[in-house]
Amino acid sequence: MRIKKRIFIGLLALSLLFLIIVLLLGWYLVVNPSSFFNRMLLFLGLITLAALFLVIALGIVSIILIILQGRSQPLFQHLGLLAINILFPIALVLGKRFGIKKDTIKASFIELNNQIVRIQGLIVKPEKILLLAPHCLQWSGCPHKITIDIYNCRRCGRCCIDSLHSVAEKYGTRLAVATGGTLARQFVKKYKPEAVVAIACERDLTSGIRDTQPLPVLGVLNQRPNGPCLNTQVNLNQVEKAIQHFMYGKNVSFNQSQNTEYKVSSGM
Ligand code: SF4
Repeated sequence: MRIKKRIFIGLLALSLLFLIIVLLLGWYLVVNPSSFFNRMLLFLGLITLAALFLVIALGIVSIILIILQGRSQPLFQHLGLLAINILFPIALVLGKRFGIKKDTIKASFIELNNQIVRIQGLIVKPEKILLLAPHCLQWSGCPHKITIDIYNCRRCGRCCIDSLHSVAEKYGTRLAVATGGTLARQFVKKYKPEAVVAIACERDLTSGIRDTQPLPVLGVLNQRPNGPCLNTQVNLNQVEKAIQHFMYGKNVSFNQSQNTEYKVSSGM
């Protein structure tokens, strides 16, 4: 299934509509007060909500403008990110009400994030790019502790960690493998990258992208032929295109739906 950015943008707009309804309801209560205290309380609440509403509305318009114009300006981008962060939980709840799976909404958010990052057109030195992979890519029977030190990998070729080493060597980027969000954040703190190419599932990528903002992160979804968190795989073509994008600023498209996944050579 092709992942569409418009799912997330639509849910953002719906969340905004939800806020407008709350605002109108509050206004109705202000003009029909039961006591002076209630009236003041509601009035202050409404002022806060109106300011929030304005920021969010500007943020959504900014995101749409960035995508339509294919150009990014720092102010638009900050407003857009702010709106996304405020509305994200509401969008998830609304999506559930409409029967849209959480993973679909998160994948849509990742696509939107990737497009905004690509539009920025940053050029980053390879050594300032961190290629961050999840631990579940490692073959489950491998005895080597690669999260402590990625060079503990013996490069036997039984899982795609070997190929990720090759990709990191080819471009000269840093490579790290994390067991979860905490370790991933530690790697970001330690290496201080200017850009991150992150591989993970919808849940971890979404939280990682949101946690590290405004650091530019291009997310690549892993593939789970054996179920979640076990011997997962990744489309190396997408990983390379993400790295190339940061290095050369090329407008390389790597929609997550491209089905040219990496296959391990043996052992699984
Ligand atoms: S390539 Fe081989 S040694 Fe390296 S992590 Fe995978 S299974 Fe372990």
